[in-house]
Amino acid sequence: MSSISKVSPTTTTTSNPSKGDTPIDLNIPDNYVSYTLKNTKPLPPVTWSNLHNEINWLSTFFLTVPPLVGTIGACFVTLRWETFVWSVTYYFLTGLGITAGYHRLWAHRSYNASLPAQYALAVLGAGSLQGSIKWWSRGHRAHHRYTDTDLDPYNAHKGFWYSHLGWMLIKPRRKPGVADVSDLSKNPVVKWQHKHYLALVLIMGFILPSVVAWLGWGDAKGGFIYAGVLRLVFVHHSTFCVNSLAHWLGETPFDDKHTPRDHMITAFVTIGEGYHNFHHQFPMDYRNAIKWYQYDPTKWTIWALSRLGLASHLKASRVFPDNEVRKGQLTMQLKRLRETQEKLAWPSDSNDLPVISWDSFQEQSLKRPLILISGFIHDVSNFIEEHPGGAHLLIKFIGKDATTAFFGGVYDHSNAAHNLLAMKRVGVLHGGHPHGLDDNAIPPSQRLKIARYNELGSGFGSSTAYSESEEGFADKF
Ligand SMILES: [Zn+2]
Ligand SMILES: [Zn+2]
Repeated sequence: MSSISKVSPTTTTTSNPSKGDTPIDLNIPDNYVSYTLKNTKPLPPVTWSNLHNEINWLSTFFLTVPPLVGTIGACFVTLRWETFVWSVTYYFLTGLGITAGYHRLWAHRSYNASLPAQYALAVLGAGSLQGSIKWWSRGHRAHHRYTDTDLDPYNAHKGFWYSHLGWMLIKPRRKPGVADVSDLSKNPVVKWQHKHYLALVLIMGFILPSVVAWLGWGDAKGGFIYAGVLRLVFVHHSTFCVNSLAHWLGETPFDDKHTPRDHMITAFVTIGEGYHNFHHQFPMDYRNAIKWYQYDPTKWTIWALSRLGLASHLKASRVFPDNEVRKGQLTMQLKRLRETQEKLAWPSDSNDLPVISWDSFQEQSLKRPLILISGFIHDVSNFIEEHPGGAHLLIKFIGKDATTAFFGGVYDHSNAAHNLLAMKRVGVLHGGHPHGLDDNAIPPSQRLKIARYNELGSGFGSSTAYSESEEGFADKF
């Protein structure tokens, strides 16, 4: 989701507030993505020989030193239970600064927050050391807009570790795609946080967690190592998992065009940001998990803030009707069913089979066991001995029409038997093929099937249907 690389407020923005209210992406070409990828050159690939010049040393420092200091510190400082409880609590508080604040409030505007709530989220977010709100949101908006392309700063197609950490350790090969943050440039809390970012990081990241443990139960060192440094490492990797794990592990119940996925494990490690397939479909929704039993403490927090009068205008099903959410789910279910359907062998269609006259049918029945059922001629040679009712019942019908006997006259065959029979089709009797709407001619496995709209023939949303209705429309005048 973010980088901690740009802690300096002076280098964290690409939009210029002096340009006024004009969104930065107002006048971009219609083919912006392909145009930019074609006409701007990326920096050369990182190799062993240029590595030292391409490393982002500031990010690398903040991503490598805290885990080292935390691990060494933990060997020398005993973890007290009070400090443990405080560290976990502070992990959630600073993590929510990112998930409920940076992400859902500022990057996506999925709800409105009162000024006190905004200051609290901005301050807690700073304690997560992931860059200022404005810088973070700018990158995240580009991530949503250019997902899985080279204009996405943490493009998941570049691999799990690149999207988790790698993109921060080396200088980006390209600038992230354009994304407007003019709304944030005007926000007083965002501006305030941007201005005092460094001081806020020191206070919220390290001083406050130590002071609370020191004044509370006399454990300043423990507060620093566990609630400060190691808590920060956990918050970092929790957030980073949204860019790596959430684009790698799980299901795609709403859309499989891009990499975002839904998974409970990701939700647990990211304070509820694990329903990422849904989130990329409905980024303005204040929820990540839409079912009550799914783990999304960020959603619960926003909801609680709204109950306390600190948040309002929570965007959810009013903007994205449940009907549209379910439509997305159904599309993916049909797609999976279609895949299953395509993996199976299906009987030949009447259009693909030779049309055989009655005389020819009689003649050929003398050479091989052919039986007529529902207008189709079937070759049952490799089935005679396996027929559950006995071979004699099949032999009796060679060269004859067994439709009535098959459909209940002698035995009302099962769906499976009918499906199997259809696989044995070798021809269509001339003049004997019943109308396609006759259930007996269609095996049960084919009465309901997944078809693409252009396979349904005219009359279903095709241009023919359109012109017909247009003619009808014109006739009325
Ligand atoms: Zn994503
Ligand atoms: Zn997002």
